[in-house]
Amino acid sequence: MSFTDLENLLPDEEILMEGFANWNTTLNSKGGKLFLTNKRIIFKAHLINFGKKYFECYLDEIYVEKNTITIFVVSNLVSFTISFRTKNGEEHSFVVTRGDKDLWVFKISEAVLNTVQSNLSVPSELSETEKQEIKSNVGVVCCGGCGAFVVSVAGQPTKCNYCGRLI
Ligand SMILES: [Zn+2]
Repeated sequence: MSFTDLENLLPDEEILMEGFANWNTTLNSKGGKLFLTNKRIIFKAHLINFGKKYFECYLDEIYVEKNTITIFVVSNLVSFTISFRTKNGEEHSFVVTRGDKDLWVFKISEAVLNTVQSNLSVPSELSETEKQEIKSNVGVVCCGGCGAFVVSVAGQPTKCNYCGRLI
């Protein structure tokens, strides 16, 4: 079993993004690969690492505070870190290739938007077209202040719930 492939995909799951990454745990940092699918964030460590070699988190297990999804992207001169909090209060952090930053941000926004749209509660008496219209008004933007992902609604001013910046 190679760490570079995902063999346990769910029936309607697809890989949106993958790249080499380091998983920062309290004990050490493990090298491996990070995958983003339309359902999960998955990390597979090189077999050479000690201890746990597999991590997964479903996107709808990520903690949401009002309009803000607690996935944060932070970059510095050499690296780019993706971290997030789960509804159980766990925090996880992965360092990925800095050159892939924009693509990661784009793909995370896409995955988050997808999750938000499918969890959106729209009145069931609305027609399919009306439901689609409501869903298409929702967007996800990466906050330039703190790097969190913020849900926005077309035509309405949006504030990042985490750092207060106007999006
Ligand atoms: Zn913010």
